Amino acid sequence: MRRDLFDEEHDLFRETVREFLAREVAPHHGQWEKDGIVPREVWKKAGELGMFGFSVPEEYGGAGITDFRYNTVIVEEIIRIGANGLGFSLHNDIMAPYLVDLTDDEQKRRWLPGFASGELITAIAVTEPGAGSDLQGVRTTAVREGDHYVVNGQKTFITNGINSDLVVVVAKTDPAAGARGITLLVAERGMEGFTRGRNLEKVGMHAQDTAELFFDNVRVPVANRLGPEEGQGFVQLMNNLPQERLSIAVAAVAAAESVLEMTIEYCRNRTAFGRSIGQFQNTRFVLAELATEVDIARLFVDRCVLALNAGELTAVDAAKAKWWTTELQNKVIDRCVQLHGGYGYMLEYPVAKAWLDSRVQTIYGGTTEIMKEIIGRSFGF
Ligand SMILES: Cc1cc2nc3c(=O)[nH]c(=O)nc-3n(C[C@H](O)[C@H](O)[C@H](O)COP(=O)(O)OP(=O)(O)OC[C@H]3O[C@@H](n4cnc5c(N)ncnc54)[C@H](O)[C@@H]3O)c2cc1C
Repeated sequence: MRRDLFDEEHDLFRETVREFLAREVAPHHGQWEKDGIVPREVWKKAGELGMFGFSVPEEYGGAGITDFRYNTVIVEEIIRIGANGLGFSLHNDIMAPYLVDLTDDEQKRRWLPGFASGELITAIAVTEPGAGSDLQGVRTTAVREGDHYVVNGQKTFITNGINSDLVVVVAKTDPAAGARGITLLVAERGMEGFTRGRNLEKVGMHAQDTAELFFDNVRVPVANRLGPEEGQGFVQLMNNLPQERLSIAVAAVAAAESVLEMTIEYCRNRTAFGRSIGQFQNTRFVLAELATEVDIARLFVDRCVLALNAGELTAVDAAKAKWWTTELQNKVIDRCVQLHGGYGYMLEYPVAKAWLDSRVQTIYGGTTEIMKEIIGRSFGF
């Protein structure tokens, strides 16, 4: 089916991104997987190319364009080459709305030029060892002392955790006030008492730095609070989560598509019992089913991208997109591993790596179960 999401400028941008990734990322990614992290230089090079901060106003070094189709292009191209280490989508798709929409002019001046140039890498620290799905269970505290908040707590599983310079920290400014007691504060690299823990060893996404963060009496200036008042953090998170979930859904469909493509090619060339394995009816039926589901997923997600651009993407639709496409991604890739036989279990085959990388997709950004809760609640029972 013809895809009509993009205009000519998006296609041109895609070529630029593809060329950049082929030159600056693909040849080095294997090494980064061994290192467990990507070098900061690649962020700067991507920034020079204009890959960050489309939505950053021009006066702060961005393009001043709010069009999630550009974000979609970047995610799709990164997924196409399996570059699981680049935390660009966290920076572009998840963090941009916090730093562009929730900041005052003084904060914009301090942070946005570095955000757009790739010199300031960002992260968001919600999850704690004792609280992931249950946002209100966060125990990190921020106690106001004059012009500062004194922050204490621990975060875990933080994407870009090692490389990040600016971390939006979810903290309780009023632990007794429930959701209304949550505030978002920006912690900066080098603040006294702000330290990184382990770069965690994961099942997949080996080049991505996912880390623990510790806050021990960190004095964060009130000037680093997002929003004019305390206690707005929960609402700010809820407003931005649909975009985060859509970004994950875009990645899910892109991964499913690219693995399906490589599997069809594999089935064309691999022979057993004197013919290509694609000639077995079972192979064709499995591929037919997967191709159908992926095409349907693509249409829904493309529609969600347009809804986001129009300011109409609801939390419920984003939750539908997130859970269904990520579960589909896992199913597609698992079936594709099966069609590769023993080679599907060998890490030198991209399908094996895609299998490892895909597993987390139904967990982060809100688990499948939490997505179903959001959808289920909308029925108003
Ligand atoms: C690679 C990776 C990167 C991540 N990046 C970040 C990041 O950048 N920033 C960040 O803050 N976090 C990040 N996370 C954390 C991620 O968002 C959480 O792991 C996720 O939200 C789940 O929380 P949890 O691990 O505490 O699981 P829990 O909340 O303990 O859930 C355990 C199980 O219980 C189920 N469950 C929980 N509540 C309910 C309910 N009400 N109804 C039904 N079932 C329920 C869950 O669905 C799950 O199956 C990352 C995680 C990973 C693995």
